[in-house]
Amino acid sequence: MAATPDNMMDKLVSLCKRRGFIFQSSEIYGGINSCYDYGPMGIELKKNIRELWWKSMVYERDDVEGLDASILMHPKVWEASGHVEGFTDPMVDCRETKNRYREDQLMVYTPKSGEGLMYAFPEGNPDYIARKLKKAKVDISQYELHCLTEIDTAEYSRIVGPDTTTPGTLTEPRLFNLMFKTFMGPVESDANIVYLRPETAQGIYVNFHNVREASRQKLPFGIAQIGKAFRNEITPGNYIFRTREFEQMEMQYFVKPGSDEEFFEYWKAERLKWYDRLGICKEHLQFHQHGENELAHYAKAAFDIQYKFPFGWSEIEGIHNRTDFDLQRHEEFSKKNLKYFDQESGEKYIPFVVETSTGVDRLLLTTLSDAYTEEEERVVLRFNPTVAPMKAAVFPLVKKDGMPEIAQNITAGLRNKFRVFYDESGAVGRRYRRQDEIGTPYCFTVDSQTLEDGTVTVRERDSMAQERISKDKVMEYLEERVV
Ligand code: ATP
Repeated sequence: MAATPDNMMDKLVSLCKRRGFIFQSSEIYGGINSCYDYGPMGIELKKNIRELWWKSMVYERDDVEGLDASILMHPKVWEASGHVEGFTDPMVDCRETKNRYREDQLMVYTPKSGEGLMYAFPEGNPDYIARKLKKAKVDISQYELHCLTEIDTAEYSRIVGPDTTTPGTLTEPRLFNLMFKTFMGPVESDANIVYLRPETAQGIYVNFHNVREASRQKLPFGIAQIGKAFRNEITPGNYIFRTREFEQMEMQYFVKPGSDEEFFEYWKAERLKWYDRLGICKEHLQFHQHGENELAHYAKAAFDIQYKFPFGWSEIEGIHNRTDFDLQRHEEFSKKNLKYFDQESGEKYIPFVVETSTGVDRLLLTTLSDAYTEEEERVVLRFNPTVAPMKAAVFPLVKKDGMPEIAQNITAGLRNKFRVFYDESGAVGRRYRRQDEIGTPYCFTVDSQTLEDGTVTVRERDSMAQERISKDKVMEYLEERVV
């Protein structure tokens, strides 16, 4: 059956497990909600995505430096950043099912007549409620759709929650802080509370002067960081799209106040170009501008880059104008001077920050979704060779006549530089298919002609076209096509 938006995710999840991209965490114990492990192919793909980002942010530029800050930070950092007070989502609980929903993610069918029951369902899942209404013999044309945020809590007694048939089971919205707490040291007291960082950005702000002085950078310049972040999300889901433990790739670009809008536009364009290098189809990407009520507490302007996932357009990266909010607050809370002295103009000021923030796991899902292709006789992951987990496979056509030795020799040579798979088992057609499923761009086969003239067959993944090249040119061939 061909992949449709409905079954595409199921197919991808199954392929990812079967071919060692992604496993459910603690699977032998029944798994743990929203936690995943990356297998042999997943970890290679992840590493390649990270490296492509790091290369474009740090190696190819003079004005961005790298950093790896600690996950646990002084608790005051999170007071200054506003996360202790403001990093909250309003949520409602269902008293009957004990399920918890984000208030802004519940949609409600309300009767046009203004009287009678209302029906709530999670955003992005209209089929689900249509089926439920049909079962309850409710005529959908007599209803209007609203977000739960628009409904007065006095009316909650009329709402039938998403996973129940009884009205009035939803609690009033309550604020829920998304930061994971733990204790530093043996004593579990309030004085010892520390947080798992919910974003990597704060590690950058508190090191602003350290990095600037050590690297002798002048404004404008940026600091890039890749690392784990943790958010106790109320509604994790869509596989690895929204999890509670994830990895971010963030870059904070410090600029002179007044030039922030220009750099904001610059980074929007730069980041879109990067997705082309990642190999993502342009038609599957779009910008979404945050409206007034969507803006985070620190932002003056924000654009998301969205990708067209099988479950709909969703954010993969945020580009934010964070103004001088964070550095200003850290100056206030730490009582340390975080101003920049501009030698050219002689002025002292707190820089503005333009942030680009994306998630490795989310980009891995993006890359997989974009690469997944079903053809009549095969499933193929059409990764950009730059990020493909396995760059090449080498096969002896048969296990005799010295073919395995030649193939192993070629493999050993390539392994100095590339992740390469050696496979001598089964029919060669099946070996090709196995490589297609993990997106290996090139397969080299040693056959009887190799014994005569020293050439091997190269088979290209997408076109399946074959050509012969000298076995001594295999490294060169890959170097030209896979970087
Ligand atoms: P949302 O509104 O969807 O919760 P957000 O706007 O809070 O997301 P940001 O704080 O802008 O997200 O995070 C920047 C990036 O970090 C996101 O674009 C995404 O790639 C990644 N990210 C954020 N939260 C998660 C998560 N729970 N799971 C996986 N990746 C995440």
